[in-house]
Amino acid sequence: MALRADFDALPIQDEKDVEYKSQVPGVMHACGHDGHTATLLAIAKVLVQNKEELQGNVVLIHQFAEEITPGGAISMIEDGCLDGVDAIFGTHLWSPTPTGEIRYRTGPFMAAPDKFTITIQGKGGHGATPHETVDSIVVGASIVTRLQQIVSRKVDPLKPAVLTIGTFHGGDAFNVIADSVTMDGTVRTFDKDVQEIIIENMEKIIKAECEAAGATYHLDYVKGYPAVNNHEEETMLLVNSASKVVGSEHVQEIAPLMIGEDFSYYLQKVPGTFFITGAGNKEKGIVAPHHHPKFDIDEESMLVAAKTLVTVALDYLHS
Ligand code: MN
Repeated sequence: MALRADFDALPIQDEKDVEYKSQVPGVMHACGHDGHTATLLAIAKVLVQNKEELQGNVVLIHQFAEEITPGGAISMIEDGCLDGVDAIFGTHLWSPTPTGEIRYRTGPFMAAPDKFTITIQGKGGHGATPHETVDSIVVGASIVTRLQQIVSRKVDPLKPAVLTIGTFHGGDAFNVIADSVTMDGTVRTFDKDVQEIIIENMEKIIKAECEAAGATYHLDYVKGYPAVNNHEEETMLLVNSASKVVGSEHVQEIAPLMIGEDFSYYLQKVPGTFFITGAGNKEKGIVAPHHHPKFDIDEESMLVAAKTLVTVALDYLHS
């Protein structure tokens, strides 16, 4: 069986005031992957010290590039990291959930996170003569607003979907009409049909807005990881193992999350489950969300994750 931890950071300036704050300007562990790695290293130590008790092999997968499409999992699987592996388990330290809590879900758990970039080419000019230009900022603003109607008006309200514009760049001076605008964002879905509806409608809206204004566009849409789909038997094994560590009242099923995870690729190859280990702590002031400049984890959570994963490994091998 395999246990997996990712280890990549994010291009965010660390604003925490702690001794273990990032020493690299503009780069920080804003998702807790350093905690995953530390946990898996601790597990390695414990497993090696108790090698005689193991009734099988445990593969420890230290994975790079979870945050960047296409993700590290795909190439590591191609390189054979799952060869001979019968099941896989992994966890994410999670600051919105308190330390000492475990959260799981059978079936679809995390969304497919797609990325897109939209470039609007207008016709720049003097800010005083808009009639002689094609204002790419006005076209872009209209597109941003209309794209919000896809999820609200085109997608079945009972099916989860997110469309977020994360950046919007255009213009250099107050008295100049911007020649072009670039924006990018993400689409999150569980259902392939919903994903297609969103892509189709994005294209329609962007095309219509640009045509009406006399602008041209380029849409670069990159489908990200598949949705994380947890297998039932392995999830139930996790629930049982985690209950022994934190108590069954602290192991709860939750609704799907719209975040993405390339753990999905492992689950397409072998059965397994990906779960949440609570890492937040209000009393210690550890409340910032993931991917935030002040993101932190309660380090006690690493111990919970390590104990849970070791118990999962032992229980799986015994079964
Ligand atoms: Mn992460």
